[in-house]
Amino acid sequence: MPQILDGNSVRDQIKAECRPRVERVRAHAGRVPGLSVVLVGNNPASEVYVRSKTKTAAELGMHSETITPDASISTEALLELIRELNARPEVDGILVQLPLPAHIDSQKILLAVAPEKDVDGFHPCNVGLLSTGRPGLRPCTPAGVIQILKRYQIPIAGKNAVVLGRSDIVGKPMAMLLLQENATVTICHSKTRDLPGVCRAADILVAAIGKPAMVTADYIRPGAVVVDVGINKVDSRAEAERIFDPSRLPDFDRRGSLLVGDVHPGDMARVSSAYTPVPGGVGPLTIAMLMSNTIDSAERRTGLS
Ligand code: NDP
Repeated sequence: MPQILDGNSVRDQIKAECRPRVERVRAHAGRVPGLSVVLVGNNPASEVYVRSKTKTAAELGMHSETITPDASISTEALLELIRELNARPEVDGILVQLPLPAHIDSQKILLAVAPEKDVDGFHPCNVGLLSTGRPGLRPCTPAGVIQILKRYQIPIAGKNAVVLGRSDIVGKPMAMLLLQENATVTICHSKTRDLPGVCRAADILVAAIGKPAMVTADYIRPGAVVVDVGINKVDSRAEAERIFDPSRLPDFDRRGSLLVGDVHPGDMARVSSAYTPVPGGVGPLTIAMLMSNTIDSAERRTGLS
C-alpha cells in the first residue's frame, strides 16, 4: 500500500509552529505580524480564498486586513495603494489576490510590492534570490510541497525529480526549490516530447498542469513519489467515469461535480510508493506557508532574524 502524504496534518504542524513565533514577535516588537490582502472587485472564488487567508491569520493571533477596491480602480490608483502599504511599518506582508481585472497591468502591480513584504514570493527580486539560493520569500505552494516531502522524510538529494508545468507560480519555483535540495531536476511543459517517458524517469514526480487526471499509470515509475498540485473540477459524467472509482459516482451525481488533481487518482494509488491526495494533499499547505512567510517577514523586519 502506498503512503498517503496527508497535507492537513502537515498544515496543522506548521500552524502549531507559527503560534509561538507570533508571540515572539509580539514580545520583541510590541505588535503581531500583519498581513494586508488586496482584493479587487467581486470575484467569488477570490473572495473565498481571501476569507480563508484572513481567517487563518486571525486563528494564529496575527493581524490581517482586507482592502477591497472597486473593480473599476485604475492601475495608477492601485499602485498608489500598494505604495501606501509598502510605507506602513506594521504591514509585514502584502498579498494582491490574483487574477486582477483585465484592464489592470498585473505585472506592474506585482513589481510595485516591496520585495521584503512580498509574501507570495512573486517579485523578480525574490525569484532571483531563490534562483541564486539566497534567503528570501518563497512562493507558498511549492514551498508547501517541500515541507510535505521533508516532514514525511522523503529523501530529495540525488533523486530524479520531474516537474510537470512551468508556471511562474508553481512549476518554475518548484523546480528551483527541488534543485536547492540537490535533486536532479527536469522541467516539462506542453512542448515536451514523450512526456510519459520523461515522467517515468522520476523518483519524485510533481504535477502542476491544470489538466484533470491527465497523468496516468504510464507516466509513473512503479514506486515513485507523486505530488499532485492540480486542483480541477470535473463536471462531465463521462469524465467522472474515466477518472473515479465507481463507488464515487453516486457522490458525483449528488453534487454535479467532483475535484480531481492532475494525476489519475486510481493509477497514482496503484503505482506510486507515496502520494498527495486531492483534496487534502498540497492544497492545505498554501495558506499555512503564506502565514509562515508573513511571520518570516515580521521576524526580519523587527530584527528578530
Ligand atoms: P498554469 O496554467 O499557469 O500552467 C500550466 C503549466 O502546465 C504550463 O507550464 C503548461 O505548459 C503546462 N501544461 C499544460 N497542459 C499541458 C500538457 N497537456 N502537457 C504538458 N504540459 C502542459 O497553471 P498553474 O501552474 O497556475 O497551476 C497548475 C495546477 O495547479 C492547476 O490545476 C491549479 O489549479 C493548481 N494550483 C494549486 C494550488 C494549490 O494550492 N494546491 C496553487 C496554485 C495552482 P506551457 O508553459 O508550455 O503552456
